[in-house]
Amino acid sequence: MSAGSALETAAAVRAGERSAREVIDESLAAIDEANADLNAFLCVTADEARAAADAVDAQVAAGDDPGPLAGVPIALKDNLVTRGVPTSCASRILAGWVPPYDATVVQRLSAAGAISVGKTNLDEFAMGSSTENSAFGPTRNPHDRERVPGGSSGGSAAAVASGMVPLALGSDTGGSTRQPASLCGVVGVKSTYGTVSRVGLVAYGSSLDQIGPFAANVADAALLLEVIGGHDPGDSTSLNRPAPDVSKHLDDGVDGLRVGVISELMGEGIAPEVVARIRAAAQALEAAGAIVEEVSIPSISACLSAYYIVAPAEASSNLSRYDGVRYGNRVEAANVTDMMTATRTQGFGDEVKRRIMLGTYALSAGYYDAFYATAQKVRTKVRADFDAVYTSHDLLMCPTSPTPAWRLGEKTDDPLTMYLSDICTIPTNLAGHPAASIPFGTDGAGLPIGVQLLGPALGETTMFRAAAVLEHSARGDGANAERHGDGS
Ligand code: GLN
Repeated sequence: MSAGSALETAAAVRAGERSAREVIDESLAAIDEANADLNAFLCVTADEARAAADAVDAQVAAGDDPGPLAGVPIALKDNLVTRGVPTSCASRILAGWVPPYDATVVQRLSAAGAISVGKTNLDEFAMGSSTENSAFGPTRNPHDRERVPGGSSGGSAAAVASGMVPLALGSDTGGSTRQPASLCGVVGVKSTYGTVSRVGLVAYGSSLDQIGPFAANVADAALLLEVIGGHDPGDSTSLNRPAPDVSKHLDDGVDGLRVGVISELMGEGIAPEVVARIRAAAQALEAAGAIVEEVSIPSISACLSAYYIVAPAEASSNLSRYDGVRYGNRVEAANVTDMMTATRTQGFGDEVKRRIMLGTYALSAGYYDAFYATAQKVRTKVRADFDAVYTSHDLLMCPTSPTPAWRLGEKTDDPLTMYLSDICTIPTNLAGHPAASIPFGTDGAGLPIGVQLLGPALGETTMFRAAAVLEHSARGDGANAERHGDGS
């Protein structure tokens, strides 16, 4: 298990009390021990990590400051491009592809002294909710190896939850940092669309995609968001402002904050044990001085349908670039059309093909207005409805996932049931707003349950204040189902 938080590790490395080399060797040893079982990492960059650690140690020895994440091991979801390190998106079509540049977030991490130890498993092209759509086998949940870690960033969540690394990055198009964080019992954050550069994030649904932090605690997640966030002129959707200022306000508390519990996400379809934990979290915020009440956002019921039109539509366009010519693998054939068909037929898995077909259909002439244009109208309405609620509330809360981690294979034959597991996370992506999942106890079987906090656009600072209060409360009361379970 990991020795200390990212903050503590960086402080010790900067002060010369621990060498980055020792920290990295410890992380690599933990990966050696646990990864064969968990399949969280697709690729471990041990040599590169050791060389980077030695460089950090040389900086410290020379009296220079390597940065706020000095010597801290981090895992990168394998849809973030890394110069000289294979980036597969867990797809056969990109297997072996080695990008020629680093994503902006990867550059920012190195500049802050963080050290990547490898690339983590995901649902192919980030399409999925369980990491079972990986071409390289599923990742297992560290809390119960017969269960899924969530997805699509399941490898990153499992890597942090098992203590192989204190930090990881994921991407969140419809919940892919928050939902695996919830199922694995770690902190996962999606910040306001545009706060983190998407340069070097392999595109899934470009108007929804955001890169986000995983950490074992709230303060580490806050620091990681500050390091990766802020304007990037290379991304035209990047907001021209500094990274959200969250760390400084973590101890500000929630006294007087108005928090709404979203009633549409507390009833049918949500496991009673999950509802009980959200109610317990609401009480914890109340005890800390917040004013908590139920709120209704009826348009939430249309979000899942709208998302499963908008995201596949964007994906069908984004994935047209994998044609056997520009990237990755090629299956040779007699002519170009046959080559492209064979390459895509063999290169993409079933779910990716399903999304491409759904998206192409939704965008096709004659159906565009009925599907895509309607979904965009729903999106506008959802955003307006959230904005209206935020005129009278500082934050909202609801479950992150309708259930704790389910068994491997339980939903793989039924895509619609799998899509339903995204019901609590998708609304925020459609709205472009920030949200985070904070571990808040377990069910009766010891499986983690996350509470989701949602904020208005650029409301990260307030959201993190509440996250810190929940974390404190979860630690203090042992936050378990026996004490706070349904009906108790
Ligand atoms: N589960 C959702 C999907 O399959 C979200 C995935 C994501 O956020 N990358 O599209």
